[in-house]
Amino acid sequence: MKTILVAPHLLKLDRIVSQADQLRLVVHSIQVQVRCPKCACISSHLHSRYERTLADLPWEGIAVQIKLEARRFFCDQENCRQRIFCERLPELAARYARKTMRLNKTLQWLGLLVGGEAGAKVAAQLGFGVSADTLLRRIRAANLPAVSTPKVLGVDDWAKRKGQTYGTILVDLERHQVVDLLPDREATTLANWLQQHAGVEIITRDRAAAYAEGARLGAPAAIQIADRWHILKNLTEVVERFLQTKYSALQVAAKQSRPQPVATTVVSAETKPPPSTKLARWNERRQARYEEVRQCWQQGATIKRMAEQFGMHRRTVRLFIRSENCPQRLRPRSRASQLDPHLEYLAQRWADGCHSAADLYRDLRLRGFHGSQSLVRHYVAQWRSALPPELKRARRGPETTKPAVTERKKLLVPSPRNTAWWLLQKQEKLEAEQQVYVQRLCETSPEIVTVQQLAQRFARLVRERRAQEFAPWLAEAATSSSQEIKGFVAGLKRDQQAVEAALRYAWSNGQTEGQVNKLKNLKRSMFGRAKFDLLKARVLAAP
Ligand SMILES: [Zn+2]
Repeated sequence: MKTILVAPHLLKLDRIVSQADQLRLVVHSIQVQVRCPKCACISSHLHSRYERTLADLPWEGIAVQIKLEARRFFCDQENCRQRIFCERLPELAARYARKTMRLNKTLQWLGLLVGGEAGAKVAAQLGFGVSADTLLRRIRAANLPAVSTPKVLGVDDWAKRKGQTYGTILVDLERHQVVDLLPDREATTLANWLQQHAGVEIITRDRAAAYAEGARLGAPAAIQIADRWHILKNLTEVVERFLQTKYSALQVAAKQSRPQPVATTVVSAETKPPPSTKLARWNERRQARYEEVRQCWQQGATIKRMAEQFGMHRRTVRLFIRSENCPQRLRPRSRASQLDPHLEYLAQRWADGCHSAADLYRDLRLRGFHGSQSLVRHYVAQWRSALPPELKRARRGPETTKPAVTERKKLLVPSPRNTAWWLLQKQEKLEAEQQVYVQRLCETSPEIVTVQQLAQRFARLVRERRAQEFAPWLAEAATSSSQEIKGFVAGLKRDQQAVEAALRYAWSNGQTEGQVNKLKNLKRSMFGRAKFDLLKARVLAAP
């Protein structure tokens, strides 16, 4: 129960002394049954009184200090060696603590949720007055929750320092919970963890050899599942590498599939003013608006009213009021989004019923998208809001609205990466132009046709988890003339059990990657202080 005075059944408030920057609560203990800490017998034989000072939760930003009159007692039990003892008030504070339990707990939450540096700033505003270091100590002192061993474990790596050192994240896929962070991605580290946490039945992982080895050593009975997304990523990379050796074919196909000269893009570019003058005009309008806003403000208009009147966001109005000069924009706003080349594809997937931003993001990455998952999430939010309520949170659903899509077309030789992607797609899903290009490409070389067919079949059998088609496919692909496909087959055979498991079980590492993203954000918010133990405490202990 929450009470203004901490532990009211143990304490009696005598008076409140109000000072400029703090309140002092003078209290004394009214605990009736006081037990000797040694023999646990109740004693009422008072020895003396003494004073303790404890910091408590602030009131309205004002620090609160508790002056506690506590008591010492005699223990009268004959066979007890404790002659005199101080009464314990465990609900109030630990024995020698200078802060109340609830203050420490609050500081711990603050540290875990906000971090040391930012937490210290928040604390100062609230009247706690603690340093970042104190908060960091609180985070370290947090009891990490005891997690039960997961049955289904997701394993992935995460960059402690990008490109230099990596750690491993372990996720309970059933409970959607990070269960541990490991300081590296070595096989033995994972093996040790698994040995100490016996009972893991299923392990999903990417196709890194170290994790395969670690899982084999640490949990030999567990079923390992290679992540389907990583398998498909490998496939796309294999086809891409294959196409890199066929670049002249790509050029020929691009030239042959080029439509008759059309200059629409050039014409429209001429009619548009160059971005610099457009930007200048935009800044002019902004300056005028800025002056209007400042004038209204001086005349006493409220931010809310001005936001309504000018159709601006309140944040912008506030920015204008606070800025001594009109904030200028240096770069045009409508820079091409990293998503632009993928919008059509995104719309198609959405219309097909894939409404999970995480899944869409993974697909886009296969196509060479380097933006963030939140960019995708934001973009599809407009479509999501148009969905019927029962579908809004659903991962997949029937066909709904087909969104409008902006198109950008370029007449260049497509990259091997894009070409690989188009080869792997169902052809009817491609734009007409891309379809023609793929057709021409296939006409230039029968080897490309064979690789395309093999790759498409493999992609389908992975996506649709057709386990029984895997072995025949392996046998056929092994006879391919392409070195790249042969290498791919050899890799699959080395990891055959895990790949087969990926076709039999629905578990995947998608969720684990989501947790890695959360971890990245947390790490970023911790600036230079993202020491491993702190990060781990925050990941595991934060709600
Ligand atoms: Zn005793």
